[in-house]
Amino acid sequence: MPQDSGDWFVRHKNIYYDTDDITEAQTEELFLCGSCRGLLKVVSRTTKNPACLGIEIPLHACDACRSLGYSIYEEAQVKEGYRFAQFINRRDKEYSRHGF
Ligand SMILES: [Zn+2]
Repeated sequence: MPQDSGDWFVRHKNIYYDTDDITEAQTEELFLCGSCRGLLKVVSRTTKNPACLGIEIPLHACDACRSLGYSIYEEAQVKEGYRFAQFINRRDKEYSRHGF
């Protein structure tokens, strides 16, 4: 069963929005899972907004990735390190937002 400290594929992206003069720094982390597409975690920071967390559980997620997604989302709300958090569970069609 995957743990938070397991293998993640990390990708950094910088996006510049011309119209608003905002630079967004995105960090995408994909959990490398042998049983499904893997849990996706996106952390985004812009020059104007504080850190924002996105969790996406894929459509055919395995049980381990599903529970990992829930625990990361719940932990993020408790710690309040993020101004905004968005939770997408495509497997059970459950969606939740926090701080918007
Ligand atoms: Zn999985």
